[in-house]
Amino acid sequence: MKTERLYQQNVYLKQCESTILEVITDLKTMKNLGAKEQPNTFCLILDKTVFFPEGGGQPSDIGFINDCPVSYVFEKDNIVYHQLASPSSSFLGASIENACGKTVTCQIDWNRRFLHMQMHCGEHILSGMFYQEYGGVNRGFHMGSDYMTIDIRLEEKPEFTHFTEDMVSNVERLANKAIWSNVPVSVHYFQKKSEAEVFPVRKKLEIEENISIVCVGSKDNPADCVACCGTHPSTAGQVGLIKIIRMENYKGMTRFTVKAGQNAYNHFVLEHKVLTPLCERFSAEPHQLLEKIKIQEKKSSAVRKELYELKKKMIGNEIQKIESLYASLSTNVLFPPFKGSFSNPIMIQSYDYFNTDDLQTLGRHVTASIKGLLILVCEPALTVLLFSNGKPDCGQLVRENADIYQGKGGGNATCARAIFTKTENLETYLDLLEKHLR
Ligand SMILES: [Zn+2]
Repeated sequence: MKTERLYQQNVYLKQCESTILEVITDLKTMKNLGAKEQPNTFCLILDKTVFFPEGGGQPSDIGFINDCPVSYVFEKDNIVYHQLASPSSSFLGASIENACGKTVTCQIDWNRRFLHMQMHCGEHILSGMFYQEYGGVNRGFHMGSDYMTIDIRLEEKPEFTHFTEDMVSNVERLANKAIWSNVPVSVHYFQKKSEAEVFPVRKKLEIEENISIVCVGSKDNPADCVACCGTHPSTAGQVGLIKIIRMENYKGMTRFTVKAGQNAYNHFVLEHKVLTPLCERFSAEPHQLLEKIKIQEKKSSAVRKELYELKKKMIGNEIQKIESLYASLSTNVLFPPFKGSFSNPIMIQSYDYFNTDDLQTLGRHVTASIKGLLILVCEPALTVLLFSNGKPDCGQLVRENADIYQGKGGGNATCARAIFTKTENLETYLDLLEKHLR
């Protein structure tokens, strides 16, 4: 019992009528065969199928059998297994166990399949160019849903030991030229290895029987020729476009992340969407963008430095002002901005141009001069910073009073902070402190 694979005869077949040969519902049997561990699924064996089973780095087709979604297709010992979601009541009547011999309609997700065909063929052409140009051998291939990775080891031309940007651009350009030349892509099936060996394959044949050779272009001078069980379009032009988007070292090889066909187009659409507003923002063409951003960064950095110096100066002035206010404070006269009592004076200073870090710096620098309580208010952040020489206890003033006004914060005896959500709460808290310490 061998499943007839209709995609090998016509890769463009999207639908077929098949006869059910066997229904497998036992989860343990399914698992042993290689099914995915998905609850509420079962497997079907058909006489023939349009579904491509996972293999050769290509994910399986998905689609429908009658109205039942097919989530995974795999093969074992020449039999193709279709894993389906538990059947609806309309699937072949009530009992799936009695479904053998019945006819079903198979329908693949064609968009997904065609993308896989574009990717697989793109991978062949690119790998062929790596091999022809630099003796780079494809040692690993993975196809994801929106990109693929190809691992190339430079091993057949000793003059090339590592990839340069120029080498990669050259391979990419030649691969696209091969695509646009729109040469035919042919698949040749052989029973025995010896029959297949007449083709100029770039990789030694590793299997002995049932070999399929994929040839891009003529057999005598192909863009690529290799054994492969995947699905490919009939002409190279259908790949459309191939683009290497990343290269990195990987276990002594170079791993290329590649997009082909619809994925390459989607990648362009996304980058265009990001790039266009950026170019408008910087009044630049794409090739000038990086230079313009660098100039802008240089300007920003100069402004930041200037701001830092200015703030340093302003904080210095403020330190002097506060210190001189404390120095002129006599024990029997309390003058503005001081409030409270002679024994416990309170000074409140509010700022709209310093952030809380600036005020922290300011407070720490005047700690030695403080008498009573120094309160620095950062207006934009609705934050109050308290400083003292330990009496009164700043942390305690925050812990015991701030939450009454939805203030959050904490600190120690000499330094604490409270953050509020409303200006009026902050002001009421300051009034309370004043009364409390009077
Ligand atoms: Zn292939």
